[in-house]
Amino acid sequence: MFQETITAADGTVETGTASEAHVVSLLRRALGNRRCTVEATCTGGVVIVREVWDGGVIPKRRTLAFEPVTPLGNITARVREDLSAIGSRPSAHLVTKAEAEFRTSVGRISAGMWGVAPAASRKLVDRGLLVVGEEFAATSNGYLAETRRLVRVSLAARLAMIAADHRTRTGAPAGYVRPADIGMTGSAGLCKPGKRSGMLYDRRSPSSCACGDWSFHGADGPDDARRKAREHRQSATAAAVAAFLD
Ligand SMILES: [Zn+2]
Repeated sequence: MFQETITAADGTVETGTASEAHVVSLLRRALGNRRCTVEATCTGGVVIVREVWDGGVIPKRRTLAFEPVTPLGNITARVREDLSAIGSRPSAHLVTKAEAEFRTSVGRISAGMWGVAPAASRKLVDRGLLVVGEEFAATSNGYLAETRRLVRVSLAARLAMIAADHRTRTGAPAGYVRPADIGMTGSAGLCKPGKRSGMLYDRRSPSSCACGDWSFHGADGPDDARRKAREHRQSATAAAVAAFLD
């Protein structure tokens, strides 16, 4: 379940709750609409911004923000391994009942060769990182009865991982530099006596992403770099969400 905050173009705010299925359907619609942007948050939420044209000169903005009702907590490298094993196996399941010979498997999650011990499995479910399906009958070894529930990685967990993969950093402008240090030649630079004589103010702000695939030198200072970084996070979120909704 998600906490929903809708901010209309006129600034009015409405709040409520939304199911995972509802957020998924909004994401699907947003991905097919070029007037929409989506951005995952590191807490497992998502912000969908839609520009609505109503004949005015500039579009009106409607912002839909969703955050999981239950905080996911920190996703450690270990938890992430469990989630990626479970996420890559549609048959991943939790064993709920088994005969005496297989009682140690009760409470465990199996995802192919990957297994998650009962205590860790319970935490993944309680924290809202996994969604558990209905119970169904199966067998432990081909003939001993067992009951299972399918498990899958929650939307909130996926969003938190996308945001973690695309954490961006924007540094301060380089400041006063010698023209030659930024590849400029000739007589550029301040013509004043003192320490800054002959120097230039370099407004370019470096910005980069944890994914390693994106970096930018904002020609127009940190605001420009931050705007570009946000655009990168939005396009990375859209691509990653489209990949798992497929
Ligand atoms: Zn990135």
